[in-house]
Amino acid sequence: MKAPDQISPAPAGEPAPRNLTGNAPTHEAPLLPPLAVVKTPYFHLLGYSVAGEETVIQAPELNVVFDIGKCPRPVLTSDFCLLTHGHMDHSAGLAYYLSQRFFQGMTPGTVICPAAIADAVSGVIRSWTALEGKAIEHRVIGLKTGEEYELRKGLIVRTFATRHTVPCAGFLLLDRREKLKPELAQQNLPGHILRDMKARGEKITYTLDVPLIAYTGDTSMGETLLQDGVRDARVLVTECTFFEQGHRKRAAVGQHLHVNEFVEVLPRLENELVLISHLSRRTYLRWAQKTLQKAMEGLTIKPKVEFFMDHAQKLQVRPSKAAAFTPVEPPSTTDTEDA
Ligand SMILES: [Zn+2]
Ligand SMILES: [Zn+2]
Repeated sequence: MKAPDQISPAPAGEPAPRNLTGNAPTHEAPLLPPLAVVKTPYFHLLGYSVAGEETVIQAPELNVVFDIGKCPRPVLTSDFCLLTHGHMDHSAGLAYYLSQRFFQGMTPGTVICPAAIADAVSGVIRSWTALEGKAIEHRVIGLKTGEEYELRKGLIVRTFATRHTVPCAGFLLLDRREKLKPELAQQNLPGHILRDMKARGEKITYTLDVPLIAYTGDTSMGETLLQDGVRDARVLVTECTFFEQGHRKRAAVGQHLHVNEFVEVLPRLENELVLISHLSRRTYLRWAQKTLQKAMEGLTIKPKVEFFMDHAQKLQVRPSKAAAFTPVEPPSTTDTEDA
């Protein structure tokens, strides 16, 4: 076979063969799904989110992974998987996550999910246990809307209502602190007096909840973003699946957010950063960004909004003699955004 750098010139009138070597332009080839990494002042977020394909977003410092469409290796390090709903693009990595953690000798993974699907989640693991012929140690914790669970001292997860085609919930992570009551702080009392008061059973502190991150998973109502703790979380990760004006009906049928609904509630959001996830594969990121920018033009209050997958770590592959590959064609137009 002729070496790629020795391709003959094309006969006159025919297009030149693609030059895969030498001064050929660099191609971006998604040989691996590009994980996005977002650095916030409080924690990192890393993962991948494409509607109907895979959504998995990890907050490593908070020891959680939100949804687990597949299980990229880094997310194994989180002890808790917060599963918003059972659609395959959000849940298919679950058994692998639990099994790998067990296999690697890590503490058993814990899945926290809406109470309505807890039995089904356990059933999946039971079935997999039968297939594997050995038990996968794990925990499944179902939470009803508004219920809380302490992930570690001072770090609480609370569910909030979302609306989708199947039972679902969003997750809010709270940094819970016990603070000295302001009236006592003002008096600047010595420590031993405060300790005595506490020993006498007096309440000297109050609870302060700082909402760190709210994650919606799939949801159809803009209003879900306006709930306490969600609209004012430091970081909000929401879906917004549809951006074309003609797709409002499709958004309603699949119970997803359309950009119009998102922009409607945007001025009332107090988040430091809003991250949009769950774009469909046929919606080009740059086009969606422009569409959103245009939709936000009239707004006087504009929270910082970014697209999660705009933070994807692009893998640059430079064609060389050793790496002749077919450049990737534009994404297919398969409808994948209904999950
Ligand atoms: Zn989805
Ligand atoms: Zn879904």
